[in-house]
Amino acid sequence: MRAIFIAVGSELLDKDRVDTNSLYVARKLMERGILMNMKMVVGDDLENLTWVIKNACKRAQLVVVTGGLGPTEDDLTREAAANALKKELLFKEEIVEDIRLKFRKRGLKMADINTRQAFVIKGAQVLPNPLGTAPGQYIDEEPCRLLLLPGPPREMKPMFDKVFVEKIAPLSNFFIYKRCFKFGGITESEVDAQIADIYGKYRNVRATILAAPGLIEVHLLGRSKKSVEEAQVETDAVAEKIKTGLADFLITEEDIAFEEFIVKESKRRGLTLCTAESCTGGGIGNRITDVPGSSEVFLGGVVAYSNELKQKILKVEEHTLIKHGAVSRETAREMAAGVRALTGADIAVSVTGIAGPGGSVDGKPVGLVFMHLSAAGVEQGIHKVFPGERKTIKVRTINEVFNLIKNYFKNLDDK
Ligand code: ATP
Ligand code: MG
Repeated sequence: MRAIFIAVGSELLDKDRVDTNSLYVARKLMERGILMNMKMVVGDDLENLTWVIKNACKRAQLVVVTGGLGPTEDDLTREAAANALKKELLFKEEIVEDIRLKFRKRGLKMADINTRQAFVIKGAQVLPNPLGTAPGQYIDEEPCRLLLLPGPPREMKPMFDKVFVEKIAPLSNFFIYKRCFKFGGITESEVDAQIADIYGKYRNVRATILAAPGLIEVHLLGRSKKSVEEAQVETDAVAEKIKTGLADFLITEEDIAFEEFIVKESKRRGLTLCTAESCTGGGIGNRITDVPGSSEVFLGGVVAYSNELKQKILKVEEHTLIKHGAVSRETAREMAAGVRALTGADIAVSVTGIAGPGGSVDGKPVGLVFMHLSAAGVEQGIHKVFPGERKTIKVRTINEVFNLIKNYFKNLDDK
């Protein structure tokens, strides 16, 4: 089954509004193996909208339209859909009553223009909108089903969820099974090289690679026309091969953020964390504290950008800075030791590097970052030369530090 999504609204063609409804809908549909293989953004123009809906209905078994169901002149979805399907629009008094009631509850009088929202395509099911005035409509006809929903995401989402469970999911003749992997310390192309060869052999498993700087996700979606079990068998086979090939880089099989993993694992092991950050400017601490409950494991951190602070607070030796420089293995090591002594945390991580675009010196290019982890009986320093611009280098560094912590946990397990 194929689906087409149409986002309606001239504002979505402008520079500062983007269509996010399609992402939500695509994700949901994919859960049942329904592929959204086309999406469009159409301005508030009756002729264009009619043309797009008409042609979409010829090409797909499901067409989802959001937006343009409001009460104003430029809300044209109802009319366009009726034109496209060559159907009448019927006026429903009960919808007007319902809208009037909603206004009254808020102590307001309904404006006359709201009666426009009471027009329903002949044969359509009216979908109540508990959070707004514009009802949705669902035209359930072979060969194409047409779903019209309001534009505001907070209204659209619950309405879509309901119609999805009741009407759309049962149409899918696929059973779905999902797996997910997160990898660190490896590039997208390396992951791709490992995977391409494997999943090419399994036609019922789709693999999607999502890459962020320093963090690669692989999502597997298996489908079967027979049963969930059949989808699972094939997906698990692919998953095991991927896992074996990339075991050293695996962070987690849970669909959680890297920082969530770090907090969760620290908590599980009863270990506390602290940070000493230079070029990431507190970014590591920021990501960790994005996780609810991080206070149980994160004691705090020092952002020591200047050499003076590195010396004063983190007790980095002056001769270390003079001899090796602020961006060096030795400075990173002393920063970690310093913050661990200061906070008493079990694990300290530190970062010092050149995020660019300026600041490169002889033998020390932009992107060079030294990272260090210090814990009881463990001193581990690494360095990388990260590609990309300033922000990217910072993100890569943060993920690499998380990777350092992940490897520390892994070594504890292996012992
Ligand atoms: P309303 O009764 O609110 O007018 P409507 O169905 O006419 O409902 P629109 O006027 O098209 O909806 O959109 C209202 C607002 O909802 C837009 O200004 C925009 O902020 C948001 N919106 C609309 N479509 C989308 C979309 N595809 N993705 C994200 N936000 C959207
Ligand atoms: Mg509107």
